[in-house]
Amino acid sequence: MIGLTLTILDLGMILVMLYMADESNKENERQAVIVSLLGASFHVTLMYVIIYLPGLRLIPIGYFSLLGVVGLLFLIPRKPNLLALKGVRGYVIGDAPRPDERDSVTRRYKLVTGTPEYHEYYGRHSEREEVDRIHRKLNRIDGTIDGGYRPNVAMIDASFSIPPHMKGIAFAEPKKEPYDITPEKTTMIAKGLAKHLGAKVVGVCKVDSLCVYTNQRTSWEKIWTVDGKEQDYPPYALVMATEMSHTHVHAGPHTPTAAETGNQYANGSYISTVMAYWFSGMGYTGIAEHTGHYDVVLPPLAVQAGMGEIGRNGYLITPTLGSRVRLSAVLTDMPLVVDDPIDIAGEEFCDNCMKCAYTCPSDSIPTSEKTEYNGTLKWKVEAETCSAYWNQVGTDCAICMAICPYSKPDTPLHGVIRWIVNHSWLAPKVFPAMDDLLYGKDWKVKPVPEWLDWK
Ligand code: SF4
Ligand code: SF4
Repeated sequence: MIGLTLTILDLGMILVMLYMADESNKENERQAVIVSLLGASFHVTLMYVIIYLPGLRLIPIGYFSLLGVVGLLFLIPRKPNLLALKGVRGYVIGDAPRPDERDSVTRRYKLVTGTPEYHEYYGRHSEREEVDRIHRKLNRIDGTIDGGYRPNVAMIDASFSIPPHMKGIAFAEPKKEPYDITPEKTTMIAKGLAKHLGAKVVGVCKVDSLCVYTNQRTSWEKIWTVDGKEQDYPPYALVMATEMSHTHVHAGPHTPTAAETGNQYANGSYISTVMAYWFSGMGYTGIAEHTGHYDVVLPPLAVQAGMGEIGRNGYLITPTLGSRVRLSAVLTDMPLVVDDPIDIAGEEFCDNCMKCAYTCPSDSIPTSEKTEYNGTLKWKVEAETCSAYWNQVGTDCAICMAICPYSKPDTPLHGVIRWIVNHSWLAPKVFPAMDDLLYGKDWKVKPVPEWLDWK
């Protein structure tokens, strides 16, 4: 009986290891393939001991007993992260001002010397003028790292050219009288349409003022202000995430990654614009929020909409695709049913992981605990040094997005791992080390299909 039990357990382990090797092979993860095959070989040897060397049965008995104890430890449930469950407000510890889009580096670099906007901004931030002047000169996504390989750079330019066209049609006024429908049904239809259009993760929230810009970079105007008076912005947001291809982002910091960034920004601008006009057709306002037109900061808005947590790398970490997403949204006054912020053990995992911080080529990601920035506890990614690296390589890098353990493909295997991390007390503590063992600590650029290959 003991022999049969040990045989079944060991056979199960061999099958699990072979399944992991096969999945890892499909994902081009050579180290994980080797570790899984070594694990399978170990269990084949153990099978030999179980079947042919009954005198040595204490070895497999001891091994599986140890495995059982570890398994039981993994069953200890994790305490919920009450701060994460409060969304962005959970981390506010001081006077947190609304964000100002004019402060974003990519927006600052677009300032033209001598214009009133230029003088106004650097009058308030003289400390940034010199460093911005240097980066402004270099600011470009021209694929320097790949010798400016034209086919991929043309892909980047082509997709990034779409959102600016959508900017002029971002605002959709109500076309008709409001349609009589419950918020539940509206929400169900809106989420279904957004997913049909290509969004992979969709959530709804009330628009928190902490996510709303005071000033826009394009018009330099105060937004939600008319004749000096604060106006109400639409109360609801439908937030959407499209998936960045795993293959593309694993080529970072090379040109395929930037091509996919542009592609997903273009998709986001299309989806959010269609959704804005759908709300308009339903008799309400719809405002498309995408890289060509932002009134709001999208990652914290997505946190409010229950789509994930913000990781150490500064990106949203979603439960199924990790950081491998690009965001867009629609603001509307059509009543919707909101989602609650979620806790996916992201903060605890990031506390024990730091993979993005160790592999960031510009050391822009902190290895410390969260610290206060503008009244909010956060991991503050240094946008200036990050964008300086982008300028150096001529792409948008994205190594920190790709290397994140949460960004693995949305397969049943990784789904099980994510579920365990989310529920187990032990998993967020030890899985970062297991990720290093299986996938390596260092960043490795993976091969791309021939049509994307710049070499
Ligand atoms: S995009 Fe690259 S340079 Fe910027 S923070 Fe991430 S890893 Fe660092
Ligand atoms: S790589 Fe690790 S530390 Fe960085 S965001 Fe992902 S889980 Fe957090």
